[in-house]
Amino acid sequence: MNQKAMTLGAKKTIALIAHDSMKDDLLEWAAENRTALAQSILYATGTTGKMLSRELGITIHNMQSGPLGGDLQIGAKIAEGKIDILIFFWDPLEAQPHDPDVKALLRLAVVWNIPAATNRATADFIFSSPFMGQTYRRVVQDYSKHLKRMGGKI
Ligand code: PGA
Repeated sequence: MNQKAMTLGAKKTIALIAHDSMKDDLLEWAAENRTALAQSILYATGTTGKMLSRELGITIHNMQSGPLGGDLQIGAKIAEGKIDILIFFWDPLEAQPHDPDVKALLRLAVVWNIPAATNRATADFIFSSPFMGQTYRRVVQDYSKHLKRMGGKI
């Protein structure tokens, strides 16, 4: 399949999500990375965003709460090319009422080839990458032929 390039700008737009049992972890990680986060444009699911802006005093665009559709709203923004990085601390030990939404969100992060951290170590690696302060050429599959065959368009 053909590929095309999309560019992540030097200033990143970052989506932050944590399941309830992971919220303390995300808060601790976000406090360690407050400076970098404060220089970025931030989106979050409802409760995660309220917690982070209250505790860290940073501006966050809040979506719905995750179980009420917030994960899918973030996914839609990824599909629109509006999210550069996903930080998603999901709970590996608890089934969630919105597990299908979680799967959909992670799938879109792969489809659109954005850096996606699903644990703290990966989040640390992403935030210590030189690409955090530079533009990055993100290669995505070019689905236009596939869509033409299906009678659709991009
Ligand atoms: P919340 O949603 O930030 O509203 O708690 C997170 C999630 O469960 O996806």
